[in-house]
Amino acid sequence: MVNLPFSGHTNPTLGLAKVLVDLGHHVSYINAPDFREKIERTGAAFIPYDNYPETLSPTQKEIKSWSAAYQTVQRVGADFDCLVYEMLFLPGKALADQLGIPAFRLFSTFTLNEKVLKDFGRTGGWYMTAIFRYPRLCRLFSKMIKRKFGLRYGDIVKEMVHNGPDLNFTYTIRDFQIYPDEFPSARYKYVGPAIGDRAEPDFDFSKITKPLIYISLGTLLNTSAAFFRKCMDAFRDEPVSVVISIGKTVKKEQLGEIPENIFVYPFVPQLKILKRASLFITHGGMNSVNEALYYGTPMLVIPVGNDQPRVAQQIEDLHLGKYLKRKGLTPAILKDSALEILRDMSYKESIVPFEEKSQAAGGNTEIAGMILKALS
Ligand code: UDP
Repeated sequence: MVNLPFSGHTNPTLGLAKVLVDLGHHVSYINAPDFREKIERTGAAFIPYDNYPETLSPTQKEIKSWSAAYQTVQRVGADFDCLVYEMLFLPGKALADQLGIPAFRLFSTFTLNEKVLKDFGRTGGWYMTAIFRYPRLCRLFSKMIKRKFGLRYGDIVKEMVHNGPDLNFTYTIRDFQIYPDEFPSARYKYVGPAIGDRAEPDFDFSKITKPLIYISLGTLLNTSAAFFRKCMDAFRDEPVSVVISIGKTVKKEQLGEIPENIFVYPFVPQLKILKRASLFITHGGMNSVNEALYYGTPMLVIPVGNDQPRVAQQIEDLHLGKYLKRKGLTPAILKDSALEILRDMSYKESIVPFEEKSQAAGGNTEIAGMILKALS
């Protein structure tokens, strides 16, 4: 297995390593040193990227990770029966072909094609997906990396869409996928979220009353203290309990006095909380959203960028929650929208089939079964 050093892309795949190891197979997982502990906990052998100096800045590391991952797979890959990669590692299929081994691809966002990428480019703001807004820029960038990574096409969109493996797995259910009919069911499998084997610490619910609102902007684009202050102003006088996961950048001290009905932490056992929450206020990260579908928790989505605005739109279109824009967001808007979702049971009713299908979907166990069947 190989992945880029992003939690959102790596975390859901760890369970797959564990399932395969538990079934008696050997799994080696190539990733950045930050992921060593998490990977070793699955029982897989951890292989750190070659040529990935500790001294690089975080941004340099992100850029370097593609070539470091590539070189490492190139060096060790031929010893394995297959390569499992996450979609962000663009050269996965081309590299597996070079090595003469089969490849399997995992999608931690929606399954991608030209239409989906175009939507991401149009709506995703000034983040990684912006490249899909400008086809000429995208082609220029593609040319630069085609030779470096031995890609088949001089266009990364084509490479992702037309040079994929025979089997692709997406960590959501088909009902949530955008443009689902464009992905033939023989090649594209929907397995629901990777929840099964996540061991979370306990959480003290003794002071929490119902209804519970859970707020998190995920682990990456969560740097706005102002956003969390707005949340506190929105709910301080309401008969609700609120758990806020502020992440590691914003500090509790930046939030001023914290009201008694609001509980603030840098990180929480999200699954345990979602299971009890009546509403999830989220940035629309695909992992978080899939987890909320799994527990049938309606959402208020305030996206930051990348795929999140498109995810938010899908949630609104399917009546699983509401999409709020960050710009112009006030405590009053937050409060009114949240209370509306809590009052209007139609959101909860719409999400029930998603909950049932997500829970039945099988996650990483399903992927492991299909990979092993294909290999045999
Ligand atoms: N998460 C968690 N506790 C927290 C915040 C986040 O366990 O306090 C987990 C969450 O369950 C999800 C992941 O971190 O699996 C966040 O991934 P997502 O794709 O939603 O957002 P990203 O962090 O990639 O922006």
